[in-house]
Amino acid sequence: MIIVFKKDATEAEKQHVYEKIEELGLRHQSIIGEELTVVGVIGKEDAIRTLPFEAMPGVDYAMPILKPFKLASVELKKRTVVDVDGVKVGGDEVVLMAGPCSVEGHDMLMEIAEDVKESGAKILRGGAFKPRTSPYSFQGYGKEALEYLAQAREATGLKIVTEVMGPNDVELIEEYTDILQVGARNMTNYQLLSRVGKSSKPVLLKRGFAATVKELLMCAEYILSNGNMNVILCERGIRTFENGTRNTLDLSSIPAIRHQSHLPVIVDPSHGTGKSEYVAAMSKAAIAAGADGLIVEVHNCPEKALSDGEQSLTPEQFNTLVKELRPVAHAVGRKM
Ligand code: PEP
Ligand code: MN
Repeated sequence: MIIVFKKDATEAEKQHVYEKIEELGLRHQSIIGEELTVVGVIGKEDAIRTLPFEAMPGVDYAMPILKPFKLASVELKKRTVVDVDGVKVGGDEVVLMAGPCSVEGHDMLMEIAEDVKESGAKILRGGAFKPRTSPYSFQGYGKEALEYLAQAREATGLKIVTEVMGPNDVELIEEYTDILQVGARNMTNYQLLSRVGKSSKPVLLKRGFAATVKELLMCAEYILSNGNMNVILCERGIRTFENGTRNTLDLSSIPAIRHQSHLPVIVDPSHGTGKSEYVAAMSKAAIAAGADGLIVEVHNCPEKALSDGEQSLTPEQFNTLVKELRPVAHAVGRKM
């Protein structure tokens, strides 16, 4: 159920509504806009319907949400702009996130950070804790890598996004990062989703490679219903029978998400294709299809990368790509 307060509703009137919701053991999540306060009521629909919201002072109207995801639904809100400490994701501007798959050392990270910043990236990506398919593959440098990421932010002003793999790591990682990344393999890790839902940091939620768009939105709902409304969705490719690419990048999920949700959506053309030669074409297509941003793997020496070198662009290739992306962004009415 969504409750929309009247423009002149007082704090006391709002408080009365919240108390009635809580008395029934239901939860509520407010979205306070410049003009209106909207409240999502979460819980059993039967219980919610017993409350005569429209009879309560200060309430303009109440409306049931029929979708299984409620706080993520476009019925709640048209668009969310996630403010990453001043960098706005989901607004007019297409936001570029770039950096190595894994943080492999101080100097390489600094070099890449300077380069991608120069090219136009606003957010630096880099894995410290890596979810690898094989237990024998490089697992990331952990806390040491987080220190390097923080130093790169200090030096360049770029914001940081890095992956958190389990609920117990959130406290450490949120000390360093600006965005908590939940990876494709962890999309349905409900304890992790609930924990990042209690964080004050924005969350980048990647689509699982065997997940539908609805399932992605239900996972976003876990985060939102725990109180964190700053969720950015990420299309990173799904598994199909095609094996010429690492994944099949499902760009139709962008309009599908737009149609159903207010949350911003970005695209990862690196994991989406697995091949650096395909990254530019899919980046352009993603922006043309309405993506709010891209997250691109960039390495200063892809052939020596400890992970995902085959899909990483060099800083020069990234620079060329950004120049090619600008006219595409402008053609679809976005800034870049
Ligand atoms: C990553 O971004 O480094 C990553 C592991 O991506 P995904 O979770 O999409 O596989
Ligand atoms: Mn990677």
